[in-house]
Amino acid sequence: MQHRPRALVIGGSISGLLAANLLRHIGWDAIVFERNAVNLIGRGAGISTQIQLRDIMRRIDIPFDDSMGIPVETLICLDRNGKTVLKEPTLRIMSAWARLYGALLDRLPAEKYCLGMQFVRAEQTPHGVTAVFSDGTRVKGDLLVGADGLRSTVRGQLLPQLQPNYAGYVAWRAMIEESSIPRNIREEVFDLYTFCLPEGELFLGYPVPGRNNETKIGRRSYNIVWYRPTDLAHGMIDLCTDASGRCHGMAIPPPLIRPEVVANIKSTARALIAPQAAEIFTSCEQPFFQPIFDLESPQIVFGRVALLGDAAFVARPHVGAGVTKAALDAQSLADALRASGDNLDAGLARYQHEQLSFGQGLVALGREEGAYLSAQAKPREQRIGEELHRDFDSLVHTHNARTEKIQRLVAARMAGV
Ligand SMILES: Cc1cc2nc3c(=O)[nH]c(=O)nc-3n(C[C@H](O)[C@H](O)[C@H](O)COP(=O)(O)OP(=O)(O)OC[C@H]3O[C@@H](n4cnc5c(N)ncnc54)[C@H](O)[C@@H]3O)c2cc1C
Repeated sequence: MQHRPRALVIGGSISGLLAANLLRHIGWDAIVFERNAVNLIGRGAGISTQIQLRDIMRRIDIPFDDSMGIPVETLICLDRNGKTVLKEPTLRIMSAWARLYGALLDRLPAEKYCLGMQFVRAEQTPHGVTAVFSDGTRVKGDLLVGADGLRSTVRGQLLPQLQPNYAGYVAWRAMIEESSIPRNIREEVFDLYTFCLPEGELFLGYPVPGRNNETKIGRRSYNIVWYRPTDLAHGMIDLCTDASGRCHGMAIPPPLIRPEVVANIKSTARALIAPQAAEIFTSCEQPFFQPIFDLESPQIVFGRVALLGDAAFVARPHVGAGVTKAALDAQSLADALRASGDNLDAGLARYQHEQLSFGQGLVALGREEGAYLSAQAKPREQRIGEELHRDFDSLVHTHNARTEKIQRLVAARMAGV
């Protein structure tokens, strides 16, 4: 290629921004196309990070300093009565989705981030690829990167049979400002990585950067992820049906969740969760839920099209590494293209070779970690061992062992193994 090669990146979330920034770093032109008409900064969720994410962000001149996240150094388990039944050291940096997104967006020239562009299909020739959008716009490039998430349109065109696999449970999520949590509860649990274990469920809470990404004490937020088995036939339809009776598939916008559904989850929290954690959860005005899926693509390169981030593989969120995986995907793609020079096919083949087994490994670890939650869909008499009853010791022991495996997998990929 004599000209400056151009990547068309579909999807303007974390993966798309990582890909565009890393490709620009190796000298490519990269344009991001996001279907939403306004930028995504308002999305609120806590994100657990891995050390490798920091190294990759630094490579594109984004300092991963103290403002990027909150270190959490102690893990506790609270029983139903709020008693601490297990306490041990841990080390995690908890960031916020909006903090990472904002930092990545700032690195990209504004004209390279195009909002309101709904990708419809890709057309390939031996010499290039054209992205076609819903308004009829056609844009040509050398490579098209599908970073358009779990329900990827890019993947849908190439692997139409492949569907995300529902894990059988949802994650209820809530973000609460530190200042609105009563002082005694704040002092007791705010700085800790807290587990509660209602039967067949899992509740997690930890501090994250607050409004405007503040990390100072008093201005942080508390993030809750509460996994609850939910069957597709009844539970999910009920959760996703709005007050007018319309069912929104498996993704209802949070403001449309019916008031009685919110009231019900809050009263369930009071009944099942340690009082300190329930108090924080119930003070959130708008808890929302996300169904948990996983997804494993058998192939992530198709001519001049490459899948990346959640569009390629989705590991259940227990692994806490979706963003780090997206960063490693983007880094692998950029390194492979740089190493292969003009030979795009060779670069893409190398990218697929490196990231396919890595994605499969993460998906497998996420499935292991969530297996006892998925097993709740079975009739009680068919459940065995931990599927019936899980205790804190075994939960924390297996969680720590799996966290180490995830860290080894990510470290090996970062080291180029
Ligand atoms: C409950 C839960 C907890 C999680 N916790 C963590 C955690 O602690 N740590 C962690 O690292 N990860 C976590 N993750 C995973 C993490 O959020 C994702 O892996 C990460 O954000 C990467 O997402 P993505 O950019 O690939 O996809 P998405 O964020 O889904 O972005 C896809 C983008 O593509 C756009 N798009 C879709 N279709 C089109 C189209 N046709 N045309 C144009 N644009 C389109 C969408 O609008 C969207 O902006 C969690 C996930 C869940 C569900």
